[in-house]
Amino acid sequence: MTEAELFEQILGIKEIRVDRVDWQEQALHIYCSSIFEETLCPHCLKKRQVVHQTYERQIRDLPITGKEVYLHLSQRQFYCPDCDRRFNERFNFVAPQRAMTCRYERYVYECCKASTIQKIGFGQPVTKFTNGVRGKNCKSARFRT
Ligand SMILES: [Zn+2]
Repeated sequence: MTEAELFEQILGIKEIRVDRVDWQEQALHIYCSSIFEETLCPHCLKKRQVVHQTYERQIRDLPITGKEVYLHLSQRQFYCPDCDRRFNERFNFVAPQRAMTCRYERYVYECCKASTIQKIGFGQPVTKFTNGVRGKNCKSARFRT
């Protein structure tokens, strides 16, 4: 099993193949692309194969072994001659225009739901944190006038 195949199994996203993995100290950068030859035009629902352009789309995913995971997806934009429109290939694991996978969005949501306002305030009691900021601003404003 190659490293790419191993990461395809770990990710469990059936719509993409892993092309390469870049290990860094804090993060894993996983370069991937679609497994499909064609896609459906979202307007007329006809199959399209003509790629207009591709660009790299960075998508945050769930951490692996404590490292941040970024998918670098080779995003394809297709052209539909019937509709005379360009459209991006869509995937089930990430919503259009979003920079994180659906499962990472759920993870962040659950973390926020389970958290307290004190934890969101950088580990400081929020009243203490905001009072300090507010006091400093008020004081400087008072002394300027
Ligand atoms: Zn179309």
